[in-house]
Amino acid sequence: MESSPEKAALAGDTIAREFAGILSAGTVFRRAEPLAKHTTLRVGGPVDYYIEPADEMDLAKVLDFCRRRGISFFILGRGSNLLVRDLGFRGAAVCLAQPVFAKIAAAGDQLVCGAGARLKAVALEAKRAELGGLEFLEGIPGSVGGALRMNAGAMGAATFDAIDRVRVMDFCGHVAVLTPSEMAVSYRQCGTLKESVALEAVFRGSRADRAEIEARMISFSKKRWASQPSAPSAGCIFKNPASVPAGRLVEELGLKGLRCGGARVSDEHGNFVVNDGGATAADILELIGMVKEKARQARGIELEIEVEIIGE
Ligand SMILES: Cc1cc2nc3c(=O)[nH]c(=O)nc-3n(C[C@H](O)[C@H](O)[C@H](O)COP(=O)(O)OP(=O)(O)OC[C@H]3O[C@@H](n4cnc5c(N)ncnc54)[C@H](O)[C@@H]3O)c2cc1C
Repeated sequence: MESSPEKAALAGDTIAREFAGILSAGTVFRRAEPLAKHTTLRVGGPVDYYIEPADEMDLAKVLDFCRRRGISFFILGRGSNLLVRDLGFRGAAVCLAQPVFAKIAAAGDQLVCGAGARLKAVALEAKRAELGGLEFLEGIPGSVGGALRMNAGAMGAATFDAIDRVRVMDFCGHVAVLTPSEMAVSYRQCGTLKESVALEAVFRGSRADRAEIEARMISFSKKRWASQPSAPSAGCIFKNPASVPAGRLVEELGLKGLRCGGARVSDEHGNFVVNDGGATAADILELIGMVKEKARQARGIELEIEVEIIGE
């Protein structure tokens, strides 16, 4: 049977009605939500279904429904490591943005944090509770869930260095608590979270003086803002190759300032591509391709992309 926009719209209406039938009133459900609103790069077309579950029960229902109906989905954090293509995403974006997923509570030397909590809020609560070792999270503009999935790191530390355990939900809705040794964790990724959703993480800190923590946070912040652009970006575009940091490589190749439409290689940091306003995902992807090509030709280095590219 031939597919047409009308048929696709009818199928979309049916799925939206079925979603509405299983989810509680507290769950946010929107259709054709522009993902540019949810990514720090400010690009990306619409997602068919945008869902903020009211609680874990609704999250389990969403995952189960998507699995049974063959609906593609992804978990959306704060969109700070995502490059969504211009035609958007066919399926669902599931975002743990409701306050119930963003709770942070100190318990002894540990901090129990919902996956939707902002990393900055985690760092600030650690300071309040006089727990040192989490200062590096302060300037990473993501959520706990995104930081776990990406094993995000800064200032010589990475998320899983400070994790005691993670509560996860698999795509069938089953919940388990895992320690880092039970999870597939490596540089800038956690494979286990490709097949499950992080619900909550328990961070470990060490007792420290609040003033010391504050001083470390200020020094990290100064270091970051001395080298990082303020224009919209997704942080580092490429993983660091073994031989040279990607930012230095881009600088050595003379590519800082290189432009494609509204996208530009940052003058402040060679590993950042910024949206100067009006960039499309296609502009950014073309620019990334140009940098990769030059690195391959001039230095024989195959740059690996750190940001996640999704959509069509
Ligand atoms: C200005 C700037 C500076 C940055 N600096 C750093 C830095 O210093 N170090 C660093 O490592 N990164 C940095 N980043 C990149 C980014 O902030 C991190 O990768 C961050 O951890 C992503 O979190 P997020 O919530 O935005 O995730 P998103 O970008 O929304 O998603 C990233 C991935 O995580 C998955 N995900 C999100 N939530 C969950 C969940 N609950 N369960 C399972 N999977 C989930 C998504 O499906 C996706 O695969 C920077 C980005 C910007 C824009």
